[in-house]
Formats: sequence, structure tokens, C-alpha cells
Amino acid sequence: MDLMEKIVSLCKRRGFVYPGSDIYGGLANTWDYGPLGTELKNNIRDCWWKKFVHEREDIYGIDGGILLHPKVWEASGHVANFNDTLVECKQCHHRFRLDQLESKKCPDCGGEFTEGKKFSGLFKTFIGPTEDKTSVAYLRPETAQAIFINFRNIVDSFHPKLPFGIAQIGKAFRNEITAGNFIFRDLEFEQMEIEYFISPDADWQKIFTNWQEEMKKWLLGLGVEEKKLRFREHGENERSHYSKKTVDVEYDYPFGIKELYGLAYRTDYDLRQHQAASGVDLNYLTEEGKKFIPHVIEPSFGMPRTFLVVLLESYFEEEKRVVLRLKPKLAPYKVAVFPLVANRQELIKKAREIFLSLKSELAVTFDDRGNIGKRYYSQDEIGTPWCVTVDYQTLEDDTVTVRDRDTTKQERLPVDKLLEYFQNLLRGSL
Ligand code: ATP
Repeated sequence: MDLMEKIVSLCKRRGFVYPGSDIYGGLANTWDYGPLGTELKNNIRDCWWKKFVHEREDIYGIDGGILLHPKVWEASGHVANFNDTLVECKQCHHRFRLDQLESKKCPDCGGEFTEGKKFSGLFKTFIGPTEDKTSVAYLRPETAQAIFINFRNIVDSFHPKLPFGIAQIGKAFRNEITAGNFIFRDLEFEQMEIEYFISPDADWQKIFTNWQEEMKKWLLGLGVEEKKLRFREHGENERSHYSKKTVDVEYDYPFGIKELYGLAYRTDYDLRQHQAASGVDLNYLTEEGKKFIPHVIEPSFGMPRTFLVVLLESYFEEEKRVVLRLKPKLAPYKVAVFPLVANRQELIKKAREIFLSLKSELAVTFDDRGNIGKRYYSQDEIGTPWCVTVDYQTLEDDTVTVRDRDTTKQERLPVDKLLEYFQNLLRGSL
């Protein structure tokens, strides 16, 4: 089994990620996050929010709608331009996106392709009882536009000084037709995006480089090895029409070097388009009385690719175990509590007491199945950083053993110091 197969299998077996609509044979490019995957995803989300919203003074967080006025997508250019060309192999009938092909022959069987057919990446729906042109709405294909259309609101409510950013985490939907590598390419996925507004006279190159550094720091903080990352600048022809500079943050996945995140200097394109289409003044007025439409730098982070990279980077096979060396903040459970044996009531009772007292403060799990060795194995595989075992000595002196996932070393700690001990280890940023 290659690494991807191992990760996919572990994700399904241990409840991180299940194939979408599994009992109906699956729905291509959709996935459901199980209990542990949901925790991991929420932890990534919270760390991102902490780093880019709470720890900064210049970024405001919002949560805009998935359904926006259809005119938003006309103004943004998505209705006209969010298209891809689909080709199908005449022999094996596999479908590909023309822009992702390296040759004119089918990569799966060498067959010829059909003529290209344009298709929209937008998911359409209808608002109200009639399904016609006037009731069309789109599921947002990116979170960014909800930010642009709230620019005026944020300026009016908070009077921020430039440069400042607006951040958002939420679902985006894209009508992807090519098969993804596990969660790499999905029909629906979360994005974590920031629009960082700057003055048109600002040194945008410098701000752009700073954001590139911030994205790198975030990834190193998640535990990603620097040598797996590439920062690739788009060439003239590849760049979107609104962008003056785009850098793809790429990662060396088991299936090749591909995009992980994007960073783009979108100029004043979006605000200018929305001003023209809505008729609302989206100029920014400085304290000195200067008026202009701000420019914007956009770091865009995709959740599923972050999730995948975190798993790929933390998966280790050792002689006797598989261990997910997740950063403790990201781990679905921080602590697992066990009674040494499962047939001694006083041990179980004490272990349950400790479990319940920690549970109101931390994500904790309880396990009394099998022997201790099996339980350690099971927790290592899902990345639980610490295991607490209640044994006979606990009943005498109220101490327990705490076993560290990475070193496998054990130490004895008083029960009443446990919470503080774990909280100290979890304090601070990633
Ligand atoms: P790709 O070239 O891989 O299709 P993109 O350039 O269209 O990606 P962007 O529009 O820049 O992607 O979106 C920003 C980020 O959102 C990407 O860097 C990626 O992390 C994430 N993303 C985009 N499309 C998907 C998808 N279909 N599934 C999962 N994540 C996605």
C-alpha cells in the first residue's frame, strides 16, 4: 500500500473521513468527516482563526452567506469566466479538464479525445417556487466575494485604518469533474481566506512577500517540513485577468507537486467591479481626506488540502506501531484515560472520575478494552498526545502514569495536577 492508500484507509477505519454517501455507493468527490476528522478540522480552523484574527489587530473576521445576490457573481466575473473545458477519451471514456492535461493523448489509455466542451464550475440553484432565469442563484465558489461585498459595512462599523484585512472561513462549492486524490479536490470544501486591503500607493511587493512568509510560518507551525514546500509564481498567461502577481504555495504530495494554497495581488479589481455593478461608493477615505478604492492581497487557504497535508506529515510507521505525530493542539483527543485492567471496579471507578473531571476542560477519551499495549497502539494511531493510566498505586497515593505519545516515556503525576499539566503543554500558538 502506498502512503495515500494507508492514509485513506486509516481515515475510514478510525473515523476521520468517510466516502460521501457511502451506503449508496458513494458520490464522486464528496466526503463526510467522522468524529475524529471533525475534531481535527475544527482544531485547524480554530488555530487559523487564532493566528490570523485573534492574535492580530488589523484583521476582522466575518461569516458571510453561501447564497449571495446573483449579481455578485456577474460582477466578480465568475458567471462569464468560471469555466473549464472538458474532454472525454473516446476509448476509455475517462474525462479530463483540458488545462490539466500535459499531452493530447489520454493519460490512462493513450486514446484520442473528443472535442472540448465548456462547462461552468458554478453550482446553480433557484430561489423561490419558479425555476427560471430570474430565480437563479449560485452556491459560492469562493468565500472571497462575501468579504468584498461587506467591505463598506466593516469600514462603517469599525473605521479601520489601512492596511487591514477581513477574514472568513466557510464552505465553497465547485462543480469539479475530474476525480480527486482523496480530499484534494472536492465539490464542497472549506476555505479560509483573507482579503488584505492596502492603499494603491503602498509597497505591495513588500506586503505580498510578508504574506508569503506568514503562509509559510503557518505551515511550519502545523508541522510541515519546509523542503516539501514550493512557492511558484504564475507566468503571464496562467495568471487570472485581475491579478498582477500570483504565487501558488505548492506541496510535494505522494501524487506529485501540486497546489496547496494561493496568494494573489488582486489589485482593486473586485471592489471596482462591485462599485460599478451595485452603484454603491466603495471608496475609502483616509484621515487626510484622500479618497480611493483600496487594492487587495489575498492569501487563500483550503481546508481539505491542509487536513491532508497535516495527516501526510504526521503519519509515521515504526517497528511496533503507527503513530500520528500531530501537534497536540490539532489532535482530536488530547488525553486518553485508562484503568490498568478492565475487571477491577475500583480502578474503573477512579479512571471514570478522572476522565469526567478532565472532560469538561479538554477533549478526552476513555478506553477499557483489551490490554494497555493495545490501547496505546490505538491512541498512537489517532495521534492522542497523552495517555493516563489508573493503577493500583493510584488508589493508595492518588497518582497516575502519564505516557507521552512521541517519546513513549511515562511519568507519575498527582491526579490534582493533571489538568494544569496538560493545559500548560497546550498553551500558546501551534
Ligand atoms: P486548482 O488549480 O487545484 O483547481 P485553484 O487554483 O482553482 O485550485 P483557488 O481558486 O486558488 O484554487 O482556491 C484557493 C484554495 O482553495 C486552493 O489553493 C485550494 O487549497 C482550495 N481549493 C480550491 N478548489 C478546491 C477543491 N475543489 N477541493 C478542495 N480544495 C480546493
